[in-house]
Amino acid sequence: MDKQQDFVLRTIEERGVKFVRLWFTDVVGTLKSVAVAPAEVEGAFAEGVGIDGSAIEGLTRSYEADVLAHPDPSTFQILPWRGEIDPTARMFCDINTPDGVPAIADPRNVLKRTLAKAAERGFTFYTHPEIEFYLLKDNDWANGGAQPIDTAGYFDNVPGGTAHDFRRRSVRMLEDIGISVEFSHHEAGPGQNEIDLRYADALTTADNIMTFRTVIKEVAMEQGVYATFMPKPFAQHPGSGMHTHMSLFEGDNNAFYEAGSKYQISAIGRQFVAGLLHYAPEITAVTNQYVNSYKRLWGGGEAPSFATWGHNNRSALVRVPVYKPGKGQSARVEYRAIDSAANPYLAYSVLLAAGLKGIEEGMELPAEAEDNVWELTDVERKALGYRPLPSSLSNAIALMEESELVAETLGTKAFDYILRNKQEEWANYRNQVTNYELRSNLETL
Ligand code: GLU
Ligand code: MG
Ligand code: MG
Repeated sequence: MDKQQDFVLRTIEERGVKFVRLWFTDVVGTLKSVAVAPAEVEGAFAEGVGIDGSAIEGLTRSYEADVLAHPDPSTFQILPWRGEIDPTARMFCDINTPDGVPAIADPRNVLKRTLAKAAERGFTFYTHPEIEFYLLKDNDWANGGAQPIDTAGYFDNVPGGTAHDFRRRSVRMLEDIGISVEFSHHEAGPGQNEIDLRYADALTTADNIMTFRTVIKEVAMEQGVYATFMPKPFAQHPGSGMHTHMSLFEGDNNAFYEAGSKYQISAIGRQFVAGLLHYAPEITAVTNQYVNSYKRLWGGGEAPSFATWGHNNRSALVRVPVYKPGKGQSARVEYRAIDSAANPYLAYSVLLAAGLKGIEEGMELPAEAEDNVWELTDVERKALGYRPLPSSLSNAIALMEESELVAETLGTKAFDYILRNKQEEWANYRNQVTNYELRSNLETL
């Protein structure tokens, strides 16, 4: 037994933990949990806990396949919202096949594989997400009841507002479970909030995002409100993005930093961004995986629709922030398409893979987009070489299907499960007769 496992067993004993939840994530980013008794944990470390592998396939369950969940002791945390009575803890798991090899479709394993590729080139991948979500009075959406909790806007300080209490309680709870928060504020939409997590290596960030979503939902329930990470819940208000700042480090040095160059960004940083722009259309089914994601990408509200980059341009897909001199270690690039409903393990895998390809192939960064690309005409955008992101889930799936980069990064199984899941989602959506059609056609046609 290693030191971390030993620490977990001692903590369980000392804190009187009664249940240990073993967490893992399916291909579309749904958190899965199986609770075991404390007495089982030692065995779980040694041999894993048997589960039905179809649980990670994202409802494309075809046949039962036994796999083993191996808890990662470094992720042990007591769940603060469960309280002091019968304390409950959790650990994230890696999923192995019965032969002891990592299950290739396990999203955590997909990210680990991609991080290992970066490590072969000497890079560590750091990420820092800005997570947006809406707080609603209730979730009675079917009766038109999805009302935001307030009418405040961007960075508003809402006197006596629920949003303050909500953010304070959430930030405390996140800190209690070991997740550092950089800052939090009201976002532009009514009831919309944003919480930014401190940067960490991408595997930790992805685990943290999964925990974050649970914490936010728990705090919302506790406060009698409802939280949603749906990308675009209201047509007339901005959607919820999960802008992610990314950097590559070589040892202690930020490989994106170069003093004296334009925006102080190194050749490696420029090639990384070139890779992101090149592969953006084909990875969008992973970073923006729902029918509803495309309502955000094409619905304004500062969400990007074209593969462009800029430093101060909020319509750009990739933003290269300008930072204070002497702050080279914080050099980073911000990817703005990814939304709050993405599977963070898979989305970070395809983003990293796209950036690494850019470096590997020495891709040239196209000229910076200074304009508000939404205000240009199609002809102007074409002349400038600004390629659109896919306009619907259907388009996105078609591009992903042809993508060697996505197939290679996700591995054949996760690639196949996602395509099947998403094709089904699109087919279900296509069958709907919407209020919009009834409103515009029922009387006039
Ligand atoms: N909510 C916007 C989006 O959907 C982003 C607003 C911001 O710049 O933070 O991407
Ligand atoms: Mg924001
Ligand atoms: Mg941002």
